[in-house]
Amino acid sequence: MDRPRITIFDTTLRDGEQSPGCSMNVQEKLRLAQQLDRLGVDVIEAGFPIASDGDFEAVQSIAASLRRPIIAGLARACAGDVDRAWQALQGAAHPRLHVVLATSDIHLKYKLRITREKCLEQAREAVRHAKSLCADVEFSPEDATRTDVAFLCQVVEAVIAIGATTVNIADTVGYSMPEEYGQLIRTLRERVDGIDKVTISTHCHNDLGLAVANSLAGVQAGARQVECAINGIGERAGNASLEEIVMAMRVRPDRYPYETAIASEQLFPSSQMLAEITRVPVQPNKAIIGRNAFAHEAGIHQDGILKNPLTYEIMTPQSVGVPDSRLVLGKHSGRHALALRCEQLGHQFERRELDEVYRRFVVLADRIKKVQDSHLLELIQDVTSGGDGKSDSGGQSKKFPPAGATRPFPRAAVAGANANDSHPAQVSGSAGQATVSIPLTDHRSEQEDYLWGV
Ligand SMILES: [Zn+2]
Repeated sequence: MDRPRITIFDTTLRDGEQSPGCSMNVQEKLRLAQQLDRLGVDVIEAGFPIASDGDFEAVQSIAASLRRPIIAGLARACAGDVDRAWQALQGAAHPRLHVVLATSDIHLKYKLRITREKCLEQAREAVRHAKSLCADVEFSPEDATRTDVAFLCQVVEAVIAIGATTVNIADTVGYSMPEEYGQLIRTLRERVDGIDKVTISTHCHNDLGLAVANSLAGVQAGARQVECAINGIGERAGNASLEEIVMAMRVRPDRYPYETAIASEQLFPSSQMLAEITRVPVQPNKAIIGRNAFAHEAGIHQDGILKNPLTYEIMTPQSVGVPDSRLVLGKHSGRHALALRCEQLGHQFERRELDEVYRRFVVLADRIKKVQDSHLLELIQDVTSGGDGKSDSGGQSKKFPPAGATRPFPRAAVAGANANDSHPAQVSGSAGQATVSIPLTDHRSEQEDYLWGV
């Protein structure tokens, strides 16, 4: 029997970018979007076009350059937002308009200051308008998990009747519990007319550390799209972590018999690229892609791992793209090994660029015994930004701290070998911050901030 296919909707560039310190400029977003394409996500939420010219441009350039994935643009439930999002999506091969409107009484009363009747009408109008422009329309009742269930059913039914193709049940404040969230999805499936014709989506925040558990409960209850972000970044405590959701399904198909199109060996490179661009490090013990996720310190574990990795590993580091730490880069390494490691870190080069990276690598490797990922990332950054190569002075300079990328994941045989690496948290990211040209505070008023987001 075929396993149900789960649509992976990546919101790293939209919800993720809303996390403090995670702003990205247009070029950085495009670069990350290209990596998300390699990763195989089905939908890329590229931004919130009306929020700023920078967001608009980012959505526009991603829409114009990626042909395979669906590109979504976020809009609040009003014509101005929808029109702006649609304008940004003009070049997309597969555009999606994502319309959001809060539905919980607390949001209606204190934030939007509208009645339920007005909310219902506004949702209808916005979806009708979006549908007149784009066949693929997603509607998100914001704060759905704190919305009166009967009213939520009414709103969802109304937008489906008008033509929404995906309904996204947002646990905006990370309040839900797994069994409760699953039950909500089941209730919608039982009570809402026409829901079997559309895709039900999850969008869970991690305020109680349950974003992934809630998303998986949603899938078990019938949701077929999961909204998530690389490294679990997102508003406050973040979004459901893409890598955890994908690997939970892959490692435990007995409990989660679902398919995704994710190329799991691209998970680590994607995580590294995001950390490098935002300079926000990944916590060392982060599941799947943290630097300790495959490190074995205790002697008894090391002994077991050497005898048979299955003793302590439920998945291989290679399956999620963690580079084989036994591949040590030194002055005897060739171009091939260098290119491979660059690729594992999320950088693919044309021959001429690789020649330049290699030239500098040899100079550096001559000075220091072992070239760590951090040195390599610094060097790559220097080459790609057209620097003169003077920063690669024996790894002393930390001009470009590669957040979370400083250790090549020691496994049993080499555990602790790289323990003297500097931790990215010790390094000021001020040099890197200069390239982040669109801080959110510059382009979105507090009032607006308060009014949007799922
Ligand atoms: Zn959100």
